[in-house]
Amino acid sequence: MAVKRVIEGVHVVPMGMANAFLVEGDNGLTLIDAGFPGKEEAVFGAIRGLGRSPGQLNHLIFTHGHPDHIGSAAAIVRETGARTNMHPLDVPVAESGGPFRPMRPAPGLLGQVLCRLFFDPDERTEPVAIDQPLTDGEILPIAGGIEVIHTPGHCAGHVALLWHAGRMLFAGDVCTNLMGLGDPVGFESLEQGRASQRKLASLSFDAVGFGHGKPIARDASAQFRYKWGTEEARKKSAA
Ligand SMILES: [Zn+2]
Ligand SMILES: [Zn+2]
Repeated sequence: MAVKRVIEGVHVVPMGMANAFLVEGDNGLTLIDAGFPGKEEAVFGAIRGLGRSPGQLNHLIFTHGHPDHIGSAAAIVRETGARTNMHPLDVPVAESGGPFRPMRPAPGLLGQVLCRLFFDPDERTEPVAIDQPLTDGEILPIAGGIEVIHTPGHCAGHVALLWHAGRMLFAGDVCTNLMGLGDPVGFESLEQGRASQRKLASLSFDAVGFGHGKPIARDASAQFRYKWGTEEARKKSAA
């Protein structure tokens, strides 16, 4: 099973065009995002690949409620009984299974193409009940502390997650790392999306996992500052 370690305690679960991540804590496993529909076996295989059983998955945290991040959630919860966590602004779409709020393609030709290819607001997913609404700034008592950072723009209820113990950021779809750091396929609000990218660039972390694209294992916050930081921060990271 292709489960790949990013840093100590974090493995990426490749689920076709989208990533999910398994975080190992003292009291069980946490899954961040749940891929497209029909990908639950990739998650169970990854869990077994770590020498664990699906019943040891205790928490499922969603960066946001898009079909490629919640698609297999209902099937995963049925098998594992994991508790689900999501920002309240996206809970209605997860619990209804769509339709999804429309996005505008990201600036540039690639955004136009990819947004049409990968996002259909009329797609339907199996509804999944959310147990726990997430609040900006709270630190979830999971795996020694996972901080919730509300990062709207791509999606109103988008959160990034900062795992303190591993100094790893889970950026969801605030940005991608497909051909270097770049935009997600689309935005509900470009202005808010840029503000969220700048917010992440102001944080300190070593590693980053993306909803789409290759994870970065070290020196990641310098790359974020260079791409989205203030002039002053960019100078500092270049020095
Ligand atoms: Zn998305
Ligand atoms: Zn996505």
